[in-house]
Amino acid sequence: MYTMGIDIGSAATKAVVLSDGQDIAASSVIGFGAGTSGAPRAVEDVFSQLGIGWDDIAFTVATGYGRLRFDDADKQVSELSCHALGVHFALPGTRTLIDIGGQDVKVMHLSESGMLDNFVMNEKCAAGTGRFLDVMARVLETTTDSLGTLDAQATAPVEISSTCTVFAESEVISHLSNGEDICNIIAGIHNSVAHRTAGLARRLGVQPQVAMSGGVAQNAGIIRALQDVLGTEVAVPDNTQLMGALGAALHGYRSVVGKQRG
Ligand code: ADP
Repeated sequence: MYTMGIDIGSAATKAVVLSDGQDIAASSVIGFGAGTSGAPRAVEDVFSQLGIGWDDIAFTVATGYGRLRFDDADKQVSELSCHALGVHFALPGTRTLIDIGGQDVKVMHLSESGMLDNFVMNEKCAAGTGRFLDVMARVLETTTDSLGTLDAQATAPVEISSTCTVFAESEVISHLSNGEDICNIIAGIHNSVAHRTAGLARRLGVQPQVAMSGGVAQNAGIIRALQDVLGTEVAVPDNTQLMGALGAALHGYRSVVGKQRG
C-alpha cells in the first residue's frame, strides 16, 4: 500500500511515496517551492518512477509552507510535526531536532515516540537560513552545494559580526576586496549561522541526541560549525531534505491504518 507525502517548501518541493509505512519506494526534490510548478512536477516525477497514478495512492498528506494550496491532498499537516515524525523514523534516538530550510530555522524537542513536544522558530528574517547561504554563495561566485567542501579547506575562518543578511553581505564583500581566502570567508559564514542557530536551540534546551533535517543539513560546513558551537554531535539522516515529506507520508500511513482499525 502506497501513501504519499508532499512537502511544498519556500525553496523546494519534496515528494516521498512510502510503501506499507516502511520503505521509501520513490522520492523527488524539485528546486521550486510554494506557488510554482514544483508540486505537480514532484508528483509527476514519483509517479513516473513507479509507473503509477493517483488511483494507486491510498492517502496523501501535504505539508510545508505551500500545503494549503495543494488541493490533491487528503489532509494537511504542519511541517513541524512532519519533520519530527520523519526524523524519528530515520533516527529514533533524536530528542533535539534542528531544521534549517529555505526561509526559516526551527528547533524542536521530540518525545520518545517522535511526537513534537515543544519548538522555537527564528523571526521573519532571512539571516541564518538556506536563502542566506544561497545569497552568500552567489556573492562568492560559487554554488550552495560547494560550500561544505570549501569550508573543509579553511585555515583561519574570518569573523562575520552582522546577523542581518544585507550587512553580512557587505562584510563578505569587504573581506573579498581585502583579498581574504574564500574558504575562510565561507567558514566564517557557517560559524555565524551556527552561533545564531545555537542561540535559538539554547532557548529551548539542547538535549542529546541532536539531529538536523532540511536542505541546509546537506552542507557539511554547517554541521561542522554547529558541532563546534554546541559541543555535541549533530546527526544527519540520509535523505535529510526529504524528512518533512517522509513524515507526511508516515502521517498518511497512520491515517489509513487508523481508519482500518477504527
Ligand atoms: P524549504 O522546505 O523551505 O523549501 P529545504 O529544506 O528544501 O527548504 O532547503 C532548501 C535550502 O537547502 C536551499 O535554500 C539551500 O540553501 C539548501 N540546499 C539545497 N541543496 C543543498 C545542497 N546540496 N547542499 C547544501 N545546501 C543545499
